[in-house]
Amino acid sequence: MSKTILISGAAGFLGSHLCDHFADHGFRVVGVDNFITGDKDNIQHLFNHSNFQFLEHDVTVHLEIKEPIDYILHFASPASPIDYLKIPIHTLKVGSLGTHNLLGLAKAKQARILIASTSEVYGDPLVHPQTEDYYGNVNSIGPRGVYDEAKRFQEAITMAYQRFHGVETRIARIFNTYGPRMRLNDGRVIPAFMGQALRREDLSVFGKGTQTRSFCYVDDLVNGIHKLLFSDYNYPVNLGNPEEITIIEFAKEILELTKSNQKIDFRPLPVGDPLRRQPDISLAKNELNWQPTTSRLDGMKKTFEYFSCLPKEKLYKTDHKDFSKHIKI
Ligand code: NAD
Ligand code: UDP
Repeated sequence: MSKTILISGAAGFLGSHLCDHFADHGFRVVGVDNFITGDKDNIQHLFNHSNFQFLEHDVTVHLEIKEPIDYILHFASPASPIDYLKIPIHTLKVGSLGTHNLLGLAKAKQARILIASTSEVYGDPLVHPQTEDYYGNVNSIGPRGVYDEAKRFQEAITMAYQRFHGVETRIARIFNTYGPRMRLNDGRVIPAFMGQALRREDLSVFGKGTQTRSFCYVDDLVNGIHKLLFSDYNYPVNLGNPEEITIIEFAKEILELTKSNQKIDFRPLPVGDPLRRQPDISLAKNELNWQPTTSRLDGMKKTFEYFSCLPKEKLYKTDHKDFSKHIKI
């Protein structure tokens, strides 16, 4: 009998790659999404896959599943700063109520659950690179607080279900991950720069561009999630690519890769934008025998190829995603 895995956030960037991965590895996949920041196009190809079922549902609302579930991956949540600033209350709800519902489901089904946490739990970090034992530097009332605190609550309730109810839990602290199926206009730096390169616009670098990030290609991340899910380690684990780069250098790399003649357009640095971010992945190396293998150049080429093939209407359309129709009051 194949095992069944429920994946929330299935129509999103990471969720859709995870659905592909587990369906291809012989799991029965139940994808759940309410499309608030996701796109049906990301999973359209799976609707004919015999291992795939889809449930359109908002996980902040109780969900009833009749069949047995062996594993749960909770990936539902806006992830782009622009998205979570547009839907701050929903972001708090999906990290808290949504996580509570899925932990309850895991308990009822005696399933193992892995939750998608984030490097944002470290806030604007005072420890560099970030290790899992660092408690972070988060401004709870700043604009990013809605995401960061939802994720910190998510980790806390997950550990409580592990300790109090004995639920088998795993926590992935994911650092900036990129690849095909990101929404071109979701505001995150890679789709933003690549969209601008394709539309022949100048690249919008925030601040002086001296802030750093470390970018992980999606295939590496999926592999890390798989290893973490099946490991015995039940405390948070950083998953990301430790190669750090400043945003200005990164913009120049993109101009070179895309053979664009555009310039850099410096814009104000958003409030609360972390100045440095780099994962220490020693724990993942030791516990999971995992580390990324895709170079930034290879990952960026694959991602740019994907964006280059998007239909023109997706390339030029401004992202006026109407979030309101997905929110149940
Ligand atoms: P995404 O926005 O592409 O995907 C999120 C998906 O969740 C979307 O399809 C959205 O419609 C769905 N969703 C949101 N609220 C929902 C709800 N209440 N019910 C059902 N579905 C809902 O974002 P992503 O980059 O794929 O991120 C996925 C997860 O990984 C998020 O939890 C995010 O916090 C985490 N994460 C991502 C990154 C990254 O770099 N991509 C980094 C750290 C953490
Ligand atoms: N950034 C930028 N221009 C953009 C979008 C983002 O300079 O058009 C910067 C942003 O200020 C941040 C970094 O790129 O320092 C990564 O931003 P992103 O939104 O991708 O993710 P974050 O790591 O901030 O959550």
